Amino acid sequence: MERSGHAPNHDSDGTADDASATRTLLRDAAERAANYLESLGARPVVPGAAALSALQRLDGPLPAHGSGAQQTLALLDELVSPATMAMAGPRFFGFVIGGSLPAALAANWLAGAWDQNAGFYSVTPGVARLEQSALRRLIALFELPPQTAAGFVTGATVANFTALAAARHAVLARVGWNVEADGLFGAPPITVIAGDEAHPTLLKSLGMLGLGRSRIVRVADDGQGRMRADALPPIAGPTILCLQAGNVNTGACDPFVPLIEHAHRHGAWVHVDGAFGLWAKATASLRHLVDGMEAADSWATDAHKWLNVPYDSGLAFVRDAHALKAAMAITAEYLPQAGEERNPSDYTPELSRRARGVEVWAALQSLGRAGIAEMIERNCRQARRFAAGLSAKGYAVLNEVVLNQVLVSFGDDARTRRVVARLQADGTCWCGITVWQGHTAMRISVSNWSTDDHDVEQSLEAMLRAAASV
Ligand SMILES: *Cc1c(COP(=O)(O)O)cnc(C)c1O
Repeated sequence: MERSGHAPNHDSDGTADDASATRTLLRDAAERAANYLESLGARPVVPGAAALSALQRLDGPLPAHGSGAQQTLALLDELVSPATMAMAGPRFFGFVIGGSLPAALAANWLAGAWDQNAGFYSVTPGVARLEQSALRRLIALFELPPQTAAGFVTGATVANFTALAAARHAVLARVGWNVEADGLFGAPPITVIAGDEAHPTLLKSLGMLGLGRSRIVRVADDGQGRMRADALPPIAGPTILCLQAGNVNTGACDPFVPLIEHAHRHGAWVHVDGAFGLWAKATASLRHLVDGMEAADSWATDAHKWLNVPYDSGLAFVRDAHALKAAMAITAEYLPQAGEERNPSDYTPELSRRARGVEVWAALQSLGRAGIAEMIERNCRQARRFAAGLSAKGYAVLNEVVLNQVLVSFGDDARTRRVVARLQADGTCWCGITVWQGHTAMRISVSNWSTDDHDVEQSLEAMLRAAASV
């Protein structure tokens, strides 16, 4: 297949030989990937020391001559697979992330083969329509207004950025300022309000938009990370209120009904960072947590968190399509002509991008409404099981376990850190450390489709073992 020692692909001429070499390569990749996924249940979640030290082999310079596709793939698998954290597996509880659903992973491979530049409808009609279908389904699932416009972006950080750019446009347009044309120099000031427990990337997004990280007016929370409606400052002039569905530590959601009512009465734009919390809407038993969020003006969420699709996959939703397009379209002549199709790049910061909506569509299609709700409700039930098992042994659960997040203290800060270090080294499961309102805690995030109750019991035992040994 590789016909010479170097530059093996230069003589590719579309022959049957090339086709069969590609087929062999892709089959090899599929075989290696399946082996990897099958190993996740048994291998330690954290990579071993030998695997990490073998990574030194990556330090070499770019070889003068390539090693060819098949050998390159083998090298990747041998060197890097063992050095990965088993994030895709059922017992990684370190961040609010999932693993890839089989349908989403397979769709990702197929979309990779399609290799579509999903920026324009005219050249990628298939994936553009697929993405539209996914968005319509998501808008219905979250019960957002039917005219809501949306874009596929890399993650919630950029989804917040995108939606807040639309917010910035709208609140300044209302006072006669065109921020896209004239920038922020000399513009009427915008008041930005966010909770004390807003996600740090929300502040970063505001900084990137020229709205400043430090000039944000912060609002006190109720001790669980929910913004206190009675602590809202008076609202006047161009204002953006940033709310949250799903605090990254506690899972708590802001009380949307009173906050949005108040903000709208005073003319503010309301944005909801719902990176994972928005998904509560898809369930019967948890949807009360996000009651009223659909009255906001914009929303951000992640598909690579609770929908369990591959990274990078975030979604920005904006009620007023005009505001989103004004902020994101390349030219001002974005208004659709009669009969014109939706151009994906009118809704996102990116022009060229991969068709990340393919995996979102595949995840939605493969699970259906019932499957999505089951996954989310199961993860939350598993979080409650962790909390019950740990508090039964006398360890302090620091949060109300309303969603999929559990914060546990094993005593003082130093002891909690030692227990978590012991747990991480044990390798049965993986949890990280957080500091919640001054207290060091272990954070358990349950958001993987493949986590079953046996994984939870096994992990709980490992946690109790680690705590008993310190
Ligand atoms: C994870 C998270 C983010 C950032 O999301 P990325 O996809 O990592 O960019 C923002 N806000 C909240 C509430 C989150 O949980």
